[in-house]
Amino acid sequence: SIMDTVVNVVDDDVALADLEAVVYYSLEHEIPLQKTIRDLQLAALKNYLAALAEYLPLKNGKSTYFRAILNAINENDSIKGEDFYKLVNSTAEKMSPVYTTNQQWVRCKGSNPRLRGYPCGLWTLFHTLTTNYAAVNSESTSINSPTKILSAIHGYVKYFFGCADCSDHFVNMAEQLKIFQVKSVDESILWLWQAHNEVNKRISGDVTEDPKFPKIQYPSKFHCPQCRDNDDEWNLTQVLKYLKKKYTNPDVEYNNIS
Ligand code: FAD
Repeated sequence: SIMDTVVNVVDDDVALADLEAVVYYSLEHEIPLQKTIRDLQLAALKNYLAALAEYLPLKNGKSTYFRAILNAINENDSIKGEDFYKLVNSTAEKMSPVYTTNQQWVRCKGSNPRLRGYPCGLWTLFHTLTTNYAAVNSESTSINSPTKILSAIHGYVKYFFGCADCSDHFVNMAEQLKIFQVKSVDESILWLWQAHNEVNKRISGDVTEDPKFPKIQYPSKFHCPQCRDNDDEWNLTQVLKYLKKKYTNPDVEYNNIS
């Protein structure tokens, strides 16, 4: 139908509102659902906050927001979910306004409110973190561990992502696809892209699929004709270029405070 065609020609870009919405929901809803956060789960939380602080500059330069939350719990051996909620809230109040949008789904908006939204936002955030990380830590200055961001993502999904099935699948896939053997920051971008495509393939046609946003092997030929060679094999150089262009936050170098 005409509507389906319209959906396919939508620009493939990242909306700041989606990044803000996902971070807001994650910090103010998903993490506080935990009773007490300690040990490996607490370590995962600290890694996640550090990744946000360094590689997710919000529009008004408020990556210091994430840093402040991290600093407040850095010496803790544990924190209750409800106390984390209070901390996040009071920090946001002190630094207001942390967000510059109304945190409504834009590119992640489903054709019905039960579809898309948060999980779409999480993928968007994760791809943004891996590309921003690569932008700041170029191959030549490989001072940092190439798996640093993938570990933070892995920890978040393992210990906090409320969709238990998703979490289990992801952790298994991470093991199968050898997440911790990734050798470079560019490879970490491609690792996440490949993993996401595996999920797209596995759940394509499920009841959770938004009929207006069918699961594809991403990116589409429409958005990136050069991403596939003549024999339909991926051209990884072009895929990488496409992902960097889409997901790298233009403010990342300017705002990087690490
Ligand atoms: P999403 O798949 O959420 O993608 C969001 C956006 O990312 C797309 O609109 C597109 O612009 C872009 N994109 C798509 N593919 C790629 C790619 N390969 N590389 C880079 N960018 C891409 N649902 C289940 O039913 N079962 C599961 O096991 C499951 N596991 C999940 C695991 C994780 C870690 C996450 C974050 C989500 C998982 N989900 C799972 C949810 C599912 O993957 C989708 O997020 C959800 O169905 C919403 O889909 P969507 O159409 O908004 O697109």
